Amino acid sequence: MSRSITQTLTCPCGKVFTSQVYDYVNVAQEPQLRYIVLAGLINVSTCPTCGRRAALARPFIYSDPAHKLLIYVHPRSDAPQEARLLILEKLRSVYTDVIATQEQQNDEEHKCSKGGRSVTLTPSQAREMPPLQVVFGLDQLTELVNAALSPDERLGRLAMSTQSRSEAERGQFLDIARKLASEMGCNYEVEDLSDEYTVWIYGSRRNIGALMRELTPQG
Ligand SMILES: [Zn+2]
Repeated sequence: MSRSITQTLTCPCGKVFTSQVYDYVNVAQEPQLRYIVLAGLINVSTCPTCGRRAALARPFIYSDPAHKLLIYVHPRSDAPQEARLLILEKLRSVYTDVIATQEQQNDEEHKCSKGGRSVTLTPSQAREMPPLQVVFGLDQLTELVNAALSPDERLGRLAMSTQSRSEAERGQFLDIARKLASEMGCNYEVEDLSDEYTVWIYGSRRNIGALMRELTPQG
C-alpha cells in the first residue's frame, strides 16, 4: 500500500486545514495516484478557502512494478552536486537492506506457512525488483514515468466550466463533475474564479477519452 501522513497546515490567509503527504506512492494499488503525480499535484496542498497552493517539500518513493519503475524522488530540483552524491550513497545501502530483508522474510515464510497463501515476494522476485532510480524534482519524475507509459496511459485532462456566479449552482456543478470523475476513475481539481468556475477532470487519456464520448450527445 501507499503510505502517507496527514499534516496540519496554516495558510497565509489564516485557514488551518489538513493535507495528505506521501512518502511512498504505489500506483499498482492506487492507479489514480499516478495522475496526481503527472499533474504535479502530489504533496501539494491547496487551501480550501483561498485556493493557494504550497509544495510540501518531502522526498518520496514512486513504485510502479508493472512498468518496472522504482524511483526515489528528492523534492528539490536544485540540490547541489555533493548533496546528490550523499543521497545516492545512502539510498544504495537502504535498497540493499530492503532486498536482504525480503529474502530473509521469505525464508521464514517457507518454513512456517504450509498451504497458506504467501503474499511476500519470493527471492527471485526480489532480485527482479526494478533498479532504484533517483530523480531530483517532479519534472524529472514526470519524464521517466511518461517514457514508460503507453500514449493512452499518459495524462489527459478535460475542463468543465460554468459562468454561473451563484454559489448553489457552482456547488451542484461540482457535484456532477465529481461524480463523473469518480465513475471514470479520474481525479478532479477546481479553479474558482469570480467570472468562471472550472472543474478540471484528469486521469489516463483512455479514461478521459471515454468520459468525453459519454458527454457527447448521441445521434
Ligand atoms: Zn488560504
